[in-house]
Amino acid sequence: MADDLYARYMKAAAANRAHSATCSRCSPDGRCETGQHLEAEFQDAYLKKKR
Ligand SMILES: [Zn+2]
Repeated sequence: MADDLYARYMKAAAANRAHSATCSRCSPDGRCETGQHLEAEFQDAYLKKKR
C-alpha cells in the first residue's frame, strides 16, 4: 500500500531526473513532451504519497 506509493514515487522521481539530465530538449525554462509527461507522473505520485 504505502510501500507501493513510495516505490512509484521513487521510480517517477528517478525517471524524471534521468530524463532531465540526458534530454537535450529539456531546460529549466521548459520541458519536452516526454519531460512534461514524466513531470506530471512525478507530481501525481508525490501528491498521492503525501496523503
Ligand atoms: Zn525532455
